[in-house]
Amino acid sequence: MATVICVSNQKGGVGKTTTAVNLAYYLGKDKFRTLLIDFDPQGNATSGLGVDKETLKKTMTDIAMGEAGLDEVVIETKYKNLSLAPTSTDLANAEVEMAGLKQKFVCLKQAIMAVEEKYDYIIIDCPPSLSLLTVNAMIAADYLLLPVQTEFYALEGVAQLLETMKLVKKAGNPSLRLLGVVATMYDKRTSLSQQVFEEIKKYFKDLAFNTTIPRNVRVAEAPSHGAPVGSYDAFSRGSRAYKEFAREVEERTGKKEQK
Ligand code: ATP
Ligand code: MG
Repeated sequence: MATVICVSNQKGGVGKTTTAVNLAYYLGKDKFRTLLIDFDPQGNATSGLGVDKETLKKTMTDIAMGEAGLDEVVIETKYKNLSLAPTSTDLANAEVEMAGLKQKFVCLKQAIMAVEEKYDYIIIDCPPSLSLLTVNAMIAADYLLLPVQTEFYALEGVAQLLETMKLVKKAGNPSLRLLGVVATMYDKRTSLSQQVFEEIKKYFKDLAFNTTIPRNVRVAEAPSHGAPVGSYDAFSRGSRAYKEFAREVEERTGKKEQK
């Protein structure tokens, strides 16, 4: 059965999409059948994998409206073992309509349950909000992965996210767990980055990932080439970090030994 991980932080621009795309890429490369779900109307994960949104017939918008199954939406990417459920900007409107549906909290969970056996990992990229889309992702997930940018105000809003997670656990998904906190855009030369990482370790203890993701220009360039950084420049510092990070995720989710 698939391990479902939602990548969430309501703070914008902290590296959620970058982490979702590159984690999914390396899990696929490590022979795990992986599905990346783009559940953010911005569609950065979709375009980051080089998919032209104009050409798509069905997207996550259709899932949110309850009008399609994931098997109709999922497309294969050119990367090994990596499938994508793309999104379109209409997902923002669909979210409003979704709020009127009886199954408004479980649209995504129902869609995932129908295809779960086909994948080892399902990674959900969430929008920068604690909206209905994010709640759907939390209800569908086994784990929440929290990327935190190693900048001032990094931990602002994290308490609120954990509170939402607690409510979801209580009301809809008791098995939801925090997979861990990954420090992104880490710059080991600045004391601020180090301080924030220390703070993360102090607060989250074992849940802080050992691997930090460095600020690296190749990571930032890769999406404009429609590629994960590991494909764009396999030897960059960013690629090596995401590869190592994926191994840590495999270990924490108990799947490393399987391959
Ligand atoms: P949003 O909240 O808008 O969905 P996000 O949390 O998904 O944003 P990203 O889109 O992944 O964040 O990253 C924000 C910006 O930072 C992007 O321009 C991305 O290319 C850049 N970025 C992310 N990680 C790194 C990194 N390790 N090194 C350099 N640039 C990075
Ligand atoms: Mg994003």
